[in-house]
Amino acid sequence: MLRALFHAQTAAESGEVPVGAVVVRDSDGHIAGEGRNRREERRDPTAHAEIEAIIRASQTLGGWRLTGCTLYVTLEPCIMCAGAIINARIGRVVCGASDTSGSGGARLLEENGVAVLWQDSEECAAVIKSFFRERRKRMTDIKLVEARTEEQLKRTAAIADEIWHEYFPCILTPGQIDYMVEKFCSVEAEKRNIADEGYIYYIIKHRDRDIGYTAIKPDGDRLFLSKIYLLKEERGKGYARTVMDMHRAYAAEHGFNAIWLTVNRHNESSIAVYRALGFEKCGEGVTDIGGGYVMDDFYFELKVGGGAQ
Ligand SMILES: [Zn+2]
Repeated sequence: MLRALFHAQTAAESGEVPVGAVVVRDSDGHIAGEGRNRREERRDPTAHAEIEAIIRASQTLGGWRLTGCTLYVTLEPCIMCAGAIINARIGRVVCGASDTSGSGGARLLEENGVAVLWQDSEECAAVIKSFFRERRKRMTDIKLVEARTEEQLKRTAAIADEIWHEYFPCILTPGQIDYMVEKFCSVEAEKRNIADEGYIYYIIKHRDRDIGYTAIKPDGDRLFLSKIYLLKEERGKGYARTVMDMHRAYAAEHGFNAIWLTVNRHNESSIAVYRALGFEKCGEGVTDIGGGYVMDDFYFELKVGGGAQ
C-alpha cells in the first residue's frame, strides 16, 4: 500500500486526482504491475491507476488472467476499474480509503466474488482530501479582470501572440498564424471588436499572475465565446473549467440561453476540453478570412440554465 501511495502522491504532483495501484503476486509478494491516475496527461477517461497496474501486470506475468494476485489501491475502485479487476480474475482487492462519493465499486467487486479488504489508511484518505482542498483553493484564486486600458489590451495581445505561436504550428501554417494574430488579436483588432461589436476582454489572473485571457460577445440570445487562452504551463489544472463556470454565470445572469464558440476542426485537444466541459457540436463551416486563408471550423454550443429546454 505504501508503494500505491507513492504513485498517488506522484499523480497529485502532476495535477492528477491522486490514486495509485499495485498488483502483487500472492505466492511470492512480487510486484507484477504498478500504475497511477493519468487521466489529464493522457486525456483519457479510462487512464485510471488500476487499469495501468492491471495492464502492466498482464505484460509482466505473460497473460491476462491475474488469478492469485492482489490489487492494492489507495482509493476504492470506480465501477469501470471494478469491471477490469473482475475480468482480470484478480481474487482480492485491498483499498486504502473508501470513495465517499459512493462509486459502488467495492460492492460490484464483492457481488462478483472478489474479496475486498479495507486498510483504512489515514494517509490514503488524506492524499485525496488535501488534493481537492488545494484544488478548490486554487480555483477561488482565479479572477477575470476586464481589459480596458491600452496597457491591458497590449497584455492580452501579447498573450495571444505567445500562445498562437506556441500552440497552433501543428494545425496552421506559420503564414496563417501571423496573419490571424495580426487580424484578430492585435490591439487594433481588440479595440475594433470592443467598439463595433461589443466584445468584452478579460485577463485571467491567478492571484497576481496573468495566466491567460478570454473574450466574449453578445450574439442574439447566445453568448459568443471568442477566446479562452491559457498559457502553456497553466493548462491541465482545471482553470478552463473555472473560467467557463464564470462565463456560464454571466450568461445566465444576462439572459443568454447558450454559450457558443468556433474551433478549428483539427484542434483535437481543445475539442476534447470543450466536450469535457459539456459543449456539443452544433454545426460547422468554412469562413474566408482574406489573405488567401480560410477558417475551417466546428461550432460548439453549451446550453445555459437548468432543465430540459
Ligand atoms: Zn477507476
